[in-house]
Amino acid sequence: MGTAMRDFREQLSAFDPEVYREIVGEEARQRDGIELIPSENYTYPEVLAALGSVLTNKYSEGYPGRRYYGGQEHADAIERLARARACEIFSAEHANVQPLSGSPMNQAVYFGLLEPGDAILAMDLSHGGHLTHGAPVSHMAKVFNFARYRTATDGAIDYDALRRQALALRPKMILAGFSSYPREYDYSQFRAIADEVGALAMADISHIGGLVAAGVLANPMTAGFDVVTTTTHKTLRGPRGGLILSRKAYARQLDAAVFPGLQGGPHMNNVAAAAITFRKASEPAFRAYADKVLANAQAMASALLAEGVELIAGGTENHLMVVDTVRSFGLDGQQAQEALDRARITANKQVVPDDTRPPMRPSGLRLGTPACATRGMGRAEMETIAGWIVRILRHPDDDGLAGMIAKQVVDLCRGFPVPGAGLEPVTAELTT
Ligand SMILES: *Cc1c(COP(=O)(O)O)cnc(C)c1O
Repeated sequence: MGTAMRDFREQLSAFDPEVYREIVGEEARQRDGIELIPSENYTYPEVLAALGSVLTNKYSEGYPGRRYYGGQEHADAIERLARARACEIFSAEHANVQPLSGSPMNQAVYFGLLEPGDAILAMDLSHGGHLTHGAPVSHMAKVFNFARYRTATDGAIDYDALRRQALALRPKMILAGFSSYPREYDYSQFRAIADEVGALAMADISHIGGLVAAGVLANPMTAGFDVVTTTTHKTLRGPRGGLILSRKAYARQLDAAVFPGLQGGPHMNNVAAAAITFRKASEPAFRAYADKVLANAQAMASALLAEGVELIAGGTENHLMVVDTVRSFGLDGQQAQEALDRARITANKQVVPDDTRPPMRPSGLRLGTPACATRGMGRAEMETIAGWIVRILRHPDDDGLAGMIAKQVVDLCRGFPVPGAGLEPVTAELTT
């Protein structure tokens, strides 16, 4: 693999130096910077190899044993492995591994189990819900009738209020799931409310899929949910892709919704990479990784709170936290993000519950620990990074400070290699 990779690099640098420069530049950015975007991670070298394999050449419309084209013996075996492993790590009865990413995955569930116009009760975007949970800008919001629940100031979900809302609306589906919510769910309460109003219970665990598979956060599948979706590239640390888990009873409807309902040929290189990811997630080392993600989030949250930083919901119970940058530093999320970028620390601006500011200039910043834990950083590094964040955001215009911290960031990162991004400094390659 090593020599194949080197050959590939030599060929690419000779044929297309413009693209090559940017790939190498991105490698350097990832290696010499601190990644705090909670939805990002560093995948395994084995996954990168599968993604770059000849499986990308193959058309496999259909499902194992029922394909439209010939030559499927290897594709069938790979997809069967991916499905069985996904069912195993999530305790599911059925898995569809074909969704091309998280958004089509959720669309397939809505179209597969509901009729246009049906009501779905999901978390409000500013309270942590995802765009695909009925944000008015999404096409899904034109097709289905989304209603939104909110969180209390301590971040908790008010299950009595949710129940009243469900009784009034009589939704066909109640959706638990988020992309920016720092607390754990009580899935049994969702299940009970869904039962009372005759709704399906769906959970979108895209952000926490790896933490659920590892058993460090609650699993909605074992709490009796009907459908659970997750991306494979966030805490699961796999290739970009989507996964739909369900009870057997919904298998046929969901499979038909993905293909031919919404998609054509699955990306078999991704499916193979997902199969590898699921095997990785079943190993003891992955459990240790998931523990580290949570411990690191606690360490970072405590360090920020000790400096008087305001965190939405007062802290975190998972891998992410949302800083109210306006109240903590007098900066909007965009200003905070830009200031950190100058010191090689990457985070993303984030709306806070009922934010009055526009999405491109929101009141908060989202921070997460999955990527740093992958490269082996621990509590001590989280405390150091939290200290840097506070200093930078207190002096966002101090270029000297940003430059000094950027140097310290590079030094720290050299001790924690990024899997698959090589060990050797690439600066020399960049300047040739
Ligand atoms: C990331 C995410 C998605 C969408 O995934 P894409 O691969 O970006 O389309 C869907 N739902 C939730 C909760 C997410 O966090």
